[in-house]
Amino acid sequence: MKDNWEIVVGLEIHAQLNTQSKIFSSASNHFGDEPNTNISAVCTGQPGVLPVLNKEVVRKAIQFGVAIEANISEASTFDRKSYFYPDCPKNFQITQFFHPIIQGGRVFAEVEGKEKEFFISFAHLEEDAGSFKHFKKFGAVDYNRSGAPLIEIVSKPCMHSAVEAASYARAIRSILLYLGVSDCNMEEGSIRFDANVSVKKYNEQTLRPKTEIKNLNSFNFLQLAINKEVERQIDLYEKHPDKDPKDVIQSGTYRFDAEKKQVFLMRSKEGADDYRYCPEPDLPPLIIKKEEVEKIKTEIPELPRQRIIRYHQNLGLSLDTAHQMVEQKTISEFFEKACNTCKNKKSLANWILVEFLGRLNEKKETFFSLNLLPENIASLVNLIEDKTITSRMAKQIADIMVDNPEKSPEKIVEENPEFKPVSDLSTIEPLVNAIIEKNPDSIEDYKKGRKKAFAFLVGQVMKETKGKANPQIVSDLIHKKLGDL
Ligand code: MN
Repeated sequence: MKDNWEIVVGLEIHAQLNTQSKIFSSASNHFGDEPNTNISAVCTGQPGVLPVLNKEVVRKAIQFGVAIEANISEASTFDRKSYFYPDCPKNFQITQFFHPIIQGGRVFAEVEGKEKEFFISFAHLEEDAGSFKHFKKFGAVDYNRSGAPLIEIVSKPCMHSAVEAASYARAIRSILLYLGVSDCNMEEGSIRFDANVSVKKYNEQTLRPKTEIKNLNSFNFLQLAINKEVERQIDLYEKHPDKDPKDVIQSGTYRFDAEKKQVFLMRSKEGADDYRYCPEPDLPPLIIKKEEVEKIKTEIPELPRQRIIRYHQNLGLSLDTAHQMVEQKTISEFFEKACNTCKNKKSLANWILVEFLGRLNEKKETFFSLNLLPENIASLVNLIEDKTITSRMAKQIADIMVDNPEKSPEKIVEENPEFKPVSDLSTIEPLVNAIIEKNPDSIEDYKKGRKKAFAFLVGQVMKETKGKANPQIVSDLIHKKLGDL
């Protein structure tokens, strides 16, 4: 049944810009302090106060606009969106409704192994509201967040599955993080997703009513909520095939209950008219000169997509590995540091993403919580490269490193005789002689130029020593002996 239906999703992403002060006042823009300590007359809406636009907010917004290849408006304006709620002391929010600062733009995201392009409709600046908390017998409001700078990024309805929506959201988050303009901390609510969801039959030219699911704060919930909502809509349409779609799906604002895994209607949709949008008389138009944008363009750091391409083309990582490595900026930076001293970057990537992250996830730790040093991971890979240790030993050493992050792999090798490869010729030579004697067939094969035969002989000696012989010395010795034969 689902096959007849096309899913249409657009996302609105609110991200807090990490400036020192708020968007229209000098109050601190800091999360986690005592309630109502980072406030001023402006963020609490006292009579007679005037907003003053924070330049740094504008600079960060332009950086984002440039990064998504959007047009930066030469003149944008601020507007009032009226609503009454305790989290909004002025009874209106200052936003950009008529002329947003950023128009258009696109991002590329990886969807199930393939690269896909997604489009942004516009992005605007606005102030955040305070947070209203419900207690048993009363409600209380904390204005620390009131006036925090937000960029709201509105996509075109260009996503056609929950997976695509999550990929797009990840790509936007990653750009904001690489630019360093937002902390994008989901638990602290510094990035929040609203999903606009509708479905239509494939042959229909127009969209059916959409519902908006508010304030999703994880990629998981985003995906789950979209899937649940799609299911709900299709179900209802199929139960009422003859009804007008408008009478089947009630356009409106919904919330997702993560425990019940269900969406609930919060309020039926208010139109733009209900918000009485009007120009903000206390702020002049925001004029941005072309030269200013050009200057900011030169300051943009390497972005995730460029980095993925560089890892793939210059370092030889597979596209998939490059994506994984770049997804978290902190991990990517750790990798970059380790690269400085590592002889095999492809192998290094695998040791970081598979071996170490695997061990760390199991312990619910990170490279940073344990203070594991990138140069130590690089050393471990180098020890394998130099054939000082075997891969099997390296895995055991990695276990020890995770338990004792202060120890370098060299130190661990030094302290543990079982990792010290046997390099003593008087031990290795008799073994090599014995193996050569026992395997005349392999010698013949080797002489015929079969490389596998050589590796087999090395392997046999390694086996005899339970993997402890220095593989470089073993292979040198076999080479020499076979050359002498
Ligand atoms: Mn908004």
